[in-house]
Amino acid sequence: MPSRSLIKLRYILLLPSDDPNIVELPPRNEGLGKWESCLVGYFLDKKLPFNYIRNSTFNQWKNMGLKEVQANGDGFMFFIFDDMDACGRVLEEGPWYMGNQLLLLKKWKRMMRLTKEHVSQIPVWIKLFNVPMEYWDFERQSRISSKIGLPLFMDHLTSTGSTVSFARVCVEVNVDSPLPQNFFVKCEDEVVEIRVEYQGTPAKCEHCRVFGHDTKNCISNQVAQLVKMQKVTEEDKKDGWKTIKSKGKKKIGNQMKERAVKGVIPFK
Ligand SMILES: [Zn+2]
Repeated sequence: MPSRSLIKLRYILLLPSDDPNIVELPPRNEGLGKWESCLVGYFLDKKLPFNYIRNSTFNQWKNMGLKEVQANGDGFMFFIFDDMDACGRVLEEGPWYMGNQLLLLKKWKRMMRLTKEHVSQIPVWIKLFNVPMEYWDFERQSRISSKIGLPLFMDHLTSTGSTVSFARVCVEVNVDSPLPQNFFVKCEDEVVEIRVEYQGTPAKCEHCRVFGHDTKNCISNQVAQLVKMQKVTEEDKKDGWKTIKSKGKKKIGNQMKERAVKGVIPFK
């Protein structure tokens, strides 16, 4: 049983509305309090335990003004800071990773709909191995990492030349980016093979063209396959062929039902 709060509620005559399904709320004139300096975050893939998130964010952001962390049951986290400037600084210094997963962050706003958007571009840290020493400057690193995506920045060690085994660069990649494991650089007659390692790339779906779930676990993809299968069956009938009704249909339907019960249907 829920425990009862001492705050009493009362009946309020609703404002007239054209639509009986809509409750009209008067505009809020007073300040929004702590929500004005709040960032909302979520992960694309798995959820992480709340305590882990709380501890890691306090470790990273306490000095940047983090005051409070909350979460709802749907995988959204609320990071409350001292002021709006602190929120801005954290956003600027991103992307942030936790447990190797990209934490997507945005500023909280009034009447915000908490939905996991269709993300088709994400920042990814990559390691480039075997980059010749003479190409470790900003201009050439940019050129080389443009092979993978839109270069955002190098890590501190790479930019100061303090590491020589690999160059670490953050690039924005698109869901359609091929993400090669290796490629070649050529300067005049010299050719060198560059090996690439990706850190924390989330699952991606080739059907929906988004990051966040696998093609093989995609419900829309399964539905599309089903529709395709039915079309083929109908065309067969037109041709005068007798076709056995697809067993696949039932199977996919059941899988979908199971998923729906477990609540793992990806954000739609
Ligand atoms: Zn999909």
